[in-house]
Amino acid sequence: MGASAEGEEDEVVSAVDESMVGGSTTTSLGQQQQQEMVAATSAEGENFKRQVSSRDKAYRLWSKVKYQLVKFEALPEHLRDNEYILGHYRANWPLGPTLLSIFSFHNETLNIWTHLLGFLLFLGLTIFTVSKLPRYVEPCIEQLLRMRTGIITSLPSYLHLPHCLDSSSLSGTGSSENCSVSLFVQKHVTRWPFFVFLGGAMFCLLSSTTCHLFSCISARWSSFLLRLDYIGIALLIAGSFYPPVYYSFACSPFLRNMYLCVITTIAIGTVMVSLLPVFQTSKYRTFRASLFFGMGISGVVPCIHKLFLYKESEPVLYQTLYLEVLMGLLYGLGALVYATRIPERWKPGMFDIFGNSHQLFHVLVVAGAYTHYESGLLYLKWRDVKGCDTW
Ligand SMILES: [Zn+2]
Repeated sequence: MGASAEGEEDEVVSAVDESMVGGSTTTSLGQQQQQEMVAATSAEGENFKRQVSSRDKAYRLWSKVKYQLVKFEALPEHLRDNEYILGHYRANWPLGPTLLSIFSFHNETLNIWTHLLGFLLFLGLTIFTVSKLPRYVEPCIEQLLRMRTGIITSLPSYLHLPHCLDSSSLSGTGSSENCSVSLFVQKHVTRWPFFVFLGGAMFCLLSSTTCHLFSCISARWSSFLLRLDYIGIALLIAGSFYPPVYYSFACSPFLRNMYLCVITTIAIGTVMVSLLPVFQTSKYRTFRASLFFGMGISGVVPCIHKLFLYKESEPVLYQTLYLEVLMGLLYGLGALVYATRIPERWKPGMFDIFGNSHQLFHVLVVAGAYTHYESGLLYLKWRDVKGCDTW
């Protein structure tokens, strides 16, 4: 393109020169004017093309410079959160490039993806849970035998019932055609506490993803999204209480409502505090971690109460206890890593993109929430089968 443009330029220049010096004596005046006009038009076109091309180059160069990753020292105040992450920051980027930056490497890439994948995991678990949980549950053999004894005692005139309700029929090994266990199916325990937890987990993971992706746009975006992020954490912790508390104390409405009211009040208080602008500054990192950790650790109270209430009569509550302890360890370790900023404080700059404390914190949160999902399922199945006299 450069060679042909130069050739055309020479022709134009020579034509203009000739017309200026009056070199052509054989052409008529009309033809000469025509040639001059063509030459002028062609020169203008070339100039225009050259201008556009240089503008494109300048734009591309400017884009490269403008959306470069910057170092910690070059950051505006609202993005200065962790001085041990030295580089690979996005700062004051517009919405489009920020959105596309999800597919490039910078110091938020893994923070975004760890919680985005976590969100998709919990979305899948929610869909799976909705589709797989039974609408009705069949009572266990012990319950049916208890019912049989009760019926025989209270309705001795129904002579056929004892026959139908013998052990072999109830266990499914009998051949009695008129006695179906399905006669005794019961409505399952309510599911909403389990979905409060799943909803809280999804909200937390999605708000965190959004915060890490878009906070670099401006101070206003950052401030709003950080608040949303903290609200998400409070909802995850509060939502985590609902399944164990509701299903453990399902037969004691007073205790159940009291615990749920207390945790809901603590969550509202935490959300109010997290809306304060001062709460978002890096100076309050330890305070933030302690507040959320304290909120989580308060779950020990209903947990101990539950064990005291059922003692050794319900083995499933010990299985859930192991999972709850594991969840507590994962969340606790996450809070510790978050507050201490290990490992990047040991080697500043080395963990800018991979393996820094915030990424570890994210992975531990997803692992803790998944452990809680497993424990919630155990609670649900247990209460479905056990039922409650007060329903
Ligand atoms: Zn985060």
